[in-house]
Parts: sequence; C-alpha cells; structure tokens
Amino acid sequence: MSRQLQAIRGMNDVLPAQIAPWQHLERVTRELFAAYGYEELRVPVVEHTELFKRSIGEYTDIVEKEMYTFTDSGGDSLTLRPEATAGILRAAIANGLLRGARLKLWSAGPMFRHERPQKGRYRQFHQIDLEALGFAGPDIDIELIALTARLWRRLGIDRVRLQLNSLGTPEARHAYRETLVRYLRRHEAALDEDSRRRLEGNPLRILDSKNPAMRAVIDGAPLLTEHLDPESKQHFATLCGALDALGIRYEINPRLVRGLDYYSRTVFEWVTDALGSQDAVCSGGRYDGLVAQLGGEPTAGIGCAMGVERVVALLEQAGSVPATASPQVYILASGARAELEALQVAERLRDAPANLRVQINLGGGNFKAQFRRADKSGAALALVLGDEELQRGVAAVKPLRREAGQSDCPLAELPARLISMLKE
Ligand code: ATP
Ligand code: MG
Repeated sequence: MSRQLQAIRGMNDVLPAQIAPWQHLERVTRELFAAYGYEELRVPVVEHTELFKRSIGEYTDIVEKEMYTFTDSGGDSLTLRPEATAGILRAAIANGLLRGARLKLWSAGPMFRHERPQKGRYRQFHQIDLEALGFAGPDIDIELIALTARLWRRLGIDRVRLQLNSLGTPEARHAYRETLVRYLRRHEAALDEDSRRRLEGNPLRILDSKNPAMRAVIDGAPLLTEHLDPESKQHFATLCGALDALGIRYEINPRLVRGLDYYSRTVFEWVTDALGSQDAVCSGGRYDGLVAQLGGEPTAGIGCAMGVERVVALLEQAGSVPATASPQVYILASGARAELEALQVAERLRDAPANLRVQINLGGGNFKAQFRRADKSGAALALVLGDEELQRGVAAVKPLRREAGQSDCPLAELPARLISMLKE
C-alpha cells in the first residue's frame, strides 16, 4: 500500500459531521446582509504580492512573516490572500465600481497566514467580510456595528463584548507617533526584537504586540486617544452616543490599534472569553485613505471581518445550531423490478411541490438490513416496495418514529398520502 497523504499543517477538512454550524452561519449571514443592503462579490484567492504590501503595510505581522508568497512560472510574485479587504478594493477600483457610487459589499472564503497552528488559529482559515465604500460616516460605522450585534443575537451567541477605539486622522496619528517614539526610545532596553525594528518603520504597531514581556511598556505608553483631532473626536462621540441610544454596549479600549496599517478613526473588535487565548471574533475599522493608496479616487471606507472557525466554535458552545434535516421518506425495495420501480417512485416524490427529502436504499440487501439503514437515516417514513406489493399496485408505508402499523397505499396516491402522514 502506498503512503497515505496528510493535509498541510494548520489547514483543516470540514467533515459532514461538522458542517451544520458552518451552513447555519452562511444562511443567517446571507439573509442578514441582504436585509442591510449588502451585496455579495467574489474575488480571487491569489493576488499580486504588491497589493498586500501596499495595503496591509510592510511593518505588520502579516506582511513580515505570515504571507504565503511564491513566484509563479511566469516570474510574477503572487500571494495567497491573508485578508479580503485589499482584494475587494482592488476589484472595486479595477472594475470601475467606485465612480461616484456608494457600495455595500460582502464576501466570504478562505484566507491564508503562516502562523503557528493552535486551537482557533490556523494557516487556512475562513472569514466573512463586510465593506462599505463611499460613506464618510459615522452613520455607517453605527449601522455596521449594529449589524454585527444583531448577528450575534440571531446566532444565539452571547459571550462576546465590543471594544472600540478611534485612531484619528493620519495627521493626528503622525503627531502622536512622535510622542510615542520619544516614550519608546526611553524604554528601548525593554523592547523585543520585532518592536525595535518597528520603532523606525511603524511604531504604532508596537502597541499591537502579543508578546507578554512587552505588556508593561505598552501599558505605560501615552494614549492616542489623547491626541485625536477635533473632527475625529466628534466622529467618535457621535458613534458612542448612537450606540448608547441603540442599547449596544461597548468598552472603549485606548490600546486597540489593530494589526493592519490602513485604519483611520473608528476601529472595533468583538472579543470573547470563551475561546481561550484566541479572543478576537470579528475585527474591523475605518480605512478612509486606503482606496487612494491603491490608486483609486479618494473614497471613504469601513469594513470588518469575522473569523468563521471562531464563530463556529462559539455556535457549538452555545448549542444554538438547528439540527440538520433528516430524510422524510426512505424507500426500501427488493428484487430487480421493485428496485427500478423504487427509482421511479423516488423521482415522482421529488417532483411533488412539497420538495420532499427522499432517500432510496441503494446497493440491495434483505429487508431486515434495509430497515436498519432506514432507521439510521433518521427518516420519518419507510416506503416498502416488494414484488407482492407491486402485483397489487401498492406500496407499504410504515412510520418509523412513532408506534403505528404498516398500511398499503396505491402508487398513484403516494405523494398526497405521504405528505399528509408527515404532518401527523
Ligand atoms: P489575531 O489578533 O487573533 O491574530 P488579527 O487581528 O490578526 O487576529 P484580523 O486580521 O483582523 O485578525 O482578521 C479578522 C478575524 O479573522 C479575527 O478577528 C479572527 O477572528 C480571524 N482570524 C485571524 N487570523 C486567524 C487565524 N490564523 N486562524 C483563524 N482565525 C483567524
Ligand atoms: Mg493575527
């Protein structure tokens, strides 16, 4: 026997027994996003490496060490997307969607980051993304956060908290950056290697460090919130006031800077204490300069991304996923003639407007074995076609989930009879 091939570390199969919460999440988000006027778009999973360098920023964990980058046989440097915003904006710009328009978009699919795999952190993981382009806010910021809050309610997930911060305008951040660098230089001895490198390139990133040894330096750093420009302050105050009015609870976290470079003003993160150290469930923020940075007309933007694996884990914990639907009818047949008749009956039942879920016994077997399979399938009714029944133009119907005997039903009356029995 040849050697079995393994999946790549950190890249998971989602098996049929695990799929229910995924499909539930997909159904609920699709419906909810439509209700808020978001339209779906689908973009490639591979892009030119430069797109991510230019948008996410060179001095970020993602670009410095997490990207799957390769040279294709044509000599181009390509990267498996580590996040969705860059590709979505590229698509909007390249397809001329932005001209004077205001867009609400959503997209979903796999992302790739070369991180250390652990529970809730994978190398191929999935995100559901929302992006709103052409809205300067803060009304759209409010609506987007309200949408995510509603999503958790619909999913029956309550162990999440909302954290909020404002990063101000690039100018305000620039002024703050100098204050921060002065502070960090005074504590240079306490900085780790990543942080020393970022001191020049992007000192704000240091505040996003996950290294526990950096905690004390970070906690003592001056706050960006105290250096906000008046307009950003007003934007943030309006957002907070509206969330209060809508009854959406939040915590202001002045240390929330987010791991990507392109954010401005509002940033937010839904966090949980239910998943151990992987606490970020849905993260987002405003990125007003990004479209221009990628070569489009200056366009305001805000978006967020949720980690599907983490939401799925929360759904499993909450036990709020509806059970997958079992077949309603399982057809048993014995003998060549009956088996052919069973296939025809099954197709006729599937034609009925009730959209019945019908499974047929494939691969033969005696009736005892077939009844075992019928029972295991979870079907409500068994439909038995044997030679003797066919002679008489009937099939036998037997409820499998309640005490009731078998009864005959003329083949022509089958769909109606089964539908009415399913209602009993
Ligand atoms: P973290 O702080 O956990 O590394 P992040 O700030 O890198 O998250 P984002 O880039 O904002 O995450 O991605 C949005 C969401 O995608 C996160 O809130 C998280 O739920 C999920 N996510 C990010 N990286 C991973 C991963 N490697 N595996 C699974 N989910 C992830
Ligand atoms: Mg990360």
